Amino acid sequence: MEAAGQIKEIKSACPYCGTGCGVLLKSDGRRILEVRGDPAHPANFGRLCGKGASLAAVSQAAQGARRLHTPLLRPARGAPLQEISWEQAYQIMTERMAQIWRVHGADAFGLYVSGQLLTEDYYVFNKLAKALLGTNNIDSNSRLCMSSAVAGYKQSLGADAPPCSYADLELADVVVIIGANPAWAHPVLYRRLEAARAARPEMKVIVIDPRRSDTAAEADLHLALLPGSDITLLNGILHLCCWEGWLDQAFIAQHTSGFAALREQLRDCTPALVAQRCGIAQDDLLQAARWIGQAALQDKRVLSLYCQGVNQSVQGVANNSAIINLHLALGQIGKPGAGPFSLTGQPNAMGGREVGAMANLASGHRNLGNHEEMAQIAAHWGLAAQDLPRQPGLTALQMFDAAAAGQLKMLWIACTNPAHSIPDQNRLRQALQTTPFVVVQEAMADVATLEYADLVLPAAAWGEKEGTLTNSERRISRVHAAIPAPGQALADWRIVCEVGRRLQQLLKPALPPLFAFDSGEAIWREHQALCAGRDLDISGLTYASLEQAPQQWPCPAPGQAQARLYQDGRFAHADGRARFIALTQAALPERCDAHYPFLLNTGRLRDQWHGMSRSGLLPAMFGHVEQACLQMARADMARRGWQDGQLVRVASRRGNLILPLQASDEVRSGQLFLPMHWGAEYLGGRQRNGAPVYGVNTLSLAAHDPVSRQPALKHAAVQLETVDLPWRMQIFAWDADAPALLAAVRPWLARFDYAACSLFGSAGSAGSAAEAHATGCGAGVRLWAGAASAPAWGSVQDLLALFGLLEGDILRYADPARGQARLVKLAGPRLQAAALLGDCAAADWLWPILRGRQDAPMPAWRLLGPQAPGGQPAPAAPMVCQCMQVSQAQLETLFSACPPDMDQAACLAHAQAQLQCGTACGSCVPQIKRMLGPRSKAAA
Ligand code: SF4
Repeated sequence: MEAAGQIKEIKSACPYCGTGCGVLLKSDGRRILEVRGDPAHPANFGRLCGKGASLAAVSQAAQGARRLHTPLLRPARGAPLQEISWEQAYQIMTERMAQIWRVHGADAFGLYVSGQLLTEDYYVFNKLAKALLGTNNIDSNSRLCMSSAVAGYKQSLGADAPPCSYADLELADVVVIIGANPAWAHPVLYRRLEAARAARPEMKVIVIDPRRSDTAAEADLHLALLPGSDITLLNGILHLCCWEGWLDQAFIAQHTSGFAALREQLRDCTPALVAQRCGIAQDDLLQAARWIGQAALQDKRVLSLYCQGVNQSVQGVANNSAIINLHLALGQIGKPGAGPFSLTGQPNAMGGREVGAMANLASGHRNLGNHEEMAQIAAHWGLAAQDLPRQPGLTALQMFDAAAAGQLKMLWIACTNPAHSIPDQNRLRQALQTTPFVVVQEAMADVATLEYADLVLPAAAWGEKEGTLTNSERRISRVHAAIPAPGQALADWRIVCEVGRRLQQLLKPALPPLFAFDSGEAIWREHQALCAGRDLDISGLTYASLEQAPQQWPCPAPGQAQARLYQDGRFAHADGRARFIALTQAALPERCDAHYPFLLNTGRLRDQWHGMSRSGLLPAMFGHVEQACLQMARADMARRGWQDGQLVRVASRRGNLILPLQASDEVRSGQLFLPMHWGAEYLGGRQRNGAPVYGVNTLSLAAHDPVSRQPALKHAAVQLETVDLPWRMQIFAWDADAPALLAAVRPWLARFDYAACSLFGSAGSAGSAAEAHATGCGAGVRLWAGAASAPAWGSVQDLLALFGLLEGDILRYADPARGQARLVKLAGPRLQAAALLGDCAAADWLWPILRGRQDAPMPAWRLLGPQAPGGQPAPAAPMVCQCMQVSQAQLETLFSACPPDMDQAACLAHAQAQLQCGTACGSCVPQIKRMLGPRSKAAA
């Protein structure tokens, strides 16, 4: 860490997605001033997406009141949290844990950790659960993300190890992207793919995804298969490869087993049947099979990239193995440019797997059921072999089910927000309420899970702690502390070690010290020693060598890091052969029927990350998508006479909520799409029974893959009905501390039938300084609400006061008896805030004036009118380029002036030259191309 005032630049890695981009981080020892891509990092070579590029702004925004600074204790459920000292926190925690352990035993604990922890944090959490407490009840939020990929690799190839490297993106001839939208979720990898396609236009990209995402729209071929038909489709492609003679028979014979059984099963997967079951054109199926199957004959390479669309399914493991089957049958694995390559959602999901910090895993990729391997771990930790628990522990969903059933006496939740991410939130909230002792170890003050915490432990955040991360291509990067953690917040590993040391004195004082670590490096070296001789051997690495260059595992000796696995055709199963797995398609966990006729899919937005506890600190990140909307096929809406923005109640068998509709050309008829980010922090209201809405996972289901236990977050059957909420409200206001105002508004969300909130403005982006200077604040808060009847007038006054609408230069019209009011607040000639109660029609013209910082029409009383004097202003357009603050409207204006014969590439270049859009992180380029459409064949 730098001395305060001295400006230095250090290397680190981005804490968001599993791409694991390297960053250079400039700080003065107090604040992170700038973050840019590390040109030397092999994951990104200097590129960053909008999320990574805004890390300095996020770090700065996170230093204020939105952080947890001290330990907090809730003296009784429902009471406010109170500050306590670390000494008190450790004492309360260890005494309570010791008591639970003695009375209820080791399995009364549940530790729920995170793929955003560093490997060192993960290691000590795992050791505390398994070596000290003696339970395997530790699981990670990676269960929601990567556990199907883990089980698929293990089942088919023998080890949890992605065989490919990012360099294969540049070497592949056919890239198959399945159930993934890397243009939004892994943007830097997508930039690499874009560059490779530009350099080698003969490269083919096939996208298999129910939705026409930005990635799909740019593909050479998009197979918009019906949800839950992945195995049918992959079997259908393999059927064609078999019967056309495109298989690599020599590879199958020498390096695999099980093909005969699979081949038998493929007989029935005829193109006509497969096309019909997948809902795709037979010609498209044949084309995909030809590009994939004939590649090997032409000495070409096939690379598959896949993510949550494959993993988050009741057949997640089978989906993974179906992809691997294809690669094995074609010999497309263990070669440059080829292989099945799962993209990791979180920055360090793989690190957690390496240390074994999941309920069914053991350290160093060992197996709970293998006596010899478990004895190795025990010896390493100074334990007797029988001291380590052997039965798999509770996986994430099982853990919360057990908690809801009263079987767990303590939950220790670290660096994750289950009150947003776990499916079936009604059930989850019951689990959190039922558990007698809930400890939340967290950096941010606004996550929904804190509401249930009895004890809060303040943790250091990114940029404030040291350690390592492993990305999707098995590459370990060092991350560094550039600034101190605020207040008394501590690195996660330090908190765990202190609890561990104290608890060991109470529970197992005779054992050798389990947590005698004085640095992250000391922890890493113990982990390294446990990996020696394993498939992930990292004996050849040191903290110092990782400092110089991030390295892939295995690396058994210096300079021996392996970019690709299985190049010798020897796989990780005991006999060295990979396994073909015969697979059949099962039904979706919830069939659509007359009562629940729509299938709800969930996924990611471009500029937000997971529960938005960090990306949501920046108003600019809401510029692309401002609020939670339910995307529905345009034709389905037209058939019903439904309009954009119309409120509907979406109901699953578990819960229901109200949302505005958004017409979409991306989703097929009968399907719906809802971004997964909108938790209770942004999307509220009341369910039919009066219970609060807990964000999008109020709807999702806990059905899961039987092996990986990964939930099917993408497959809920739902019904829709329009709702008539005669009383509507919108309030929007610039505010000097918008995140604090947002936090104050959140408790109000459950008071209305429909409610949502978000930030707006450009704070945290390139344009923020000038904008903030012009108006006094660079950000604001917008609140939408609706109710069947007007709420008590007095209570609404309190809400108006929060927005500063009861004092200052206010114009007001109010009819309390009818719940109607309009208030506007001016700051000089500009609109500072507006509230529309009862009837919100005027929001259509007031919002663009406020958001666009236009001078208000004069005389000012005209602002109280239902319509804009002198014509409606153009609606506020969504932001397309977040980095350069270029809106959709600006682009439309520019493109309307382009000559009709100007092709797509030329129009894009023109826009980049005129507006600089897409010239920084480039994440908006697919959307800009999509706006342009294929203006000419050459351009397409
Ligand atoms: Fe971070 Fe973006 Fe790179 Fe992912 S792609 S690691 S979010 S910069």
